[in-house]
Amino acid sequence: MSERTEISILGEFGLIDHLTKNIELQNASSIVGVGDDAAVIDHFGKQTVITSDMLVEGVHFDLMYTPLKHLGYKSVVVNLSDIYAMNAIPTQIIMNIAISNRFSVEAMDEFYDGVYTACTKYGVDLVGGDTSSSQKGFIISVTAIGEVTPDKYVKRSTAKKGDLICVSGDLGGAYVGLLFLEREKKIYLENPKIQPDLESESYVIGRMLKPEARKDIIEFFEKENLVPSSMMDISDGLSSEILHISKQSNLGCIIYEEKLPIGEEMRNAAYKFEIDPTACALSGGEDYELLFTVAKNDYNKITLNQDISVIGYMTEPENGTQIITKGDSTYPITAQGWNAFKEP
Ligand code: ADP
Ligand code: MG
Repeated sequence: MSERTEISILGEFGLIDHLTKNIELQNASSIVGVGDDAAVIDHFGKQTVITSDMLVEGVHFDLMYTPLKHLGYKSVVVNLSDIYAMNAIPTQIIMNIAISNRFSVEAMDEFYDGVYTACTKYGVDLVGGDTSSSQKGFIISVTAIGEVTPDKYVKRSTAKKGDLICVSGDLGGAYVGLLFLEREKKIYLENPKIQPDLESESYVIGRMLKPEARKDIIEFFEKENLVPSSMMDISDGLSSEILHISKQSNLGCIIYEEKLPIGEEMRNAAYKFEIDPTACALSGGEDYELLFTVAKNDYNKITLNQDISVIGYMTEPENGTQIITKGDSTYPITAQGWNAFKEP
């Protein structure tokens, strides 16, 4: 049996101190960190980008199949992804947690192990937070702060007609990973003696439990002196996000099914569930890839990065938002691209 220390033994201040005592600030912009009434940040003339995301047990995560370390890591990464989606560099995070007495000090150590692993990997400082008890379950709210050279931030609403639509990485993996985890959970609940075999699906399950934010893509833009005309991260699914860019930019779009970035692992895993990989790529959420548009003139630069796919282009608004299938049929893109494809 592993040790279990009740949080009540440390108390709120003891727990905060325990969880934050080893912080070593990495950024010159982090002037005052944990331990005062507020943090002080100096971005030295750059603009500040700020975002917040909440994760609620039973709504956004299920601790039956989410290790606490992964949860800590993911709760940071999903926020950093939003900062990168503005073409900015994240520098600080603030971590707010509410925990019930179901959780021990050791459990919070595991969670913070994931938080600090993400902080180190992405070069951000944890500079504050708040800690509360909760009647039931675990609630996490992370605020991420970043910096951007004035006017280099990229919004969703500034795509131009004729711009190329681009996606990083591959899509649909996290969704299929979730299907596996939910299936194994159900089998386990019916018969706890059966040990889940998730090894063979480690890619898609990893996409769900341990997503990464596309820091490398933002660095690539910087290196190539490329500023996308619009950008957002893909948290709800490609269809839903492309509709946001189109609507907010007041344009239409055309994307091609054959150009969608679909990985071998996701395709094979989707077939095991007898679902269409294209539908997973269009509607599956939580991949945290970047969706962005670039001017046609930047096409040559985009081809330098193997991990970026051009999937279509922006059109006149009158054109609507459309997908052209491999069979050359045209369908309107809906937020559930899923069902549209089931129709004959
Ligand atoms: P206050 O009473 O001013 O809200 P707290 O006692 O809540 O202060 O917090 C003390 C310090 O610890 C502050 O710097 C706060 O930002 C930080 N902090 C509190 N909870 C957390 C947490 N869960 N993770 C990281 N830092 C935290
Ligand atoms: Mg407080």
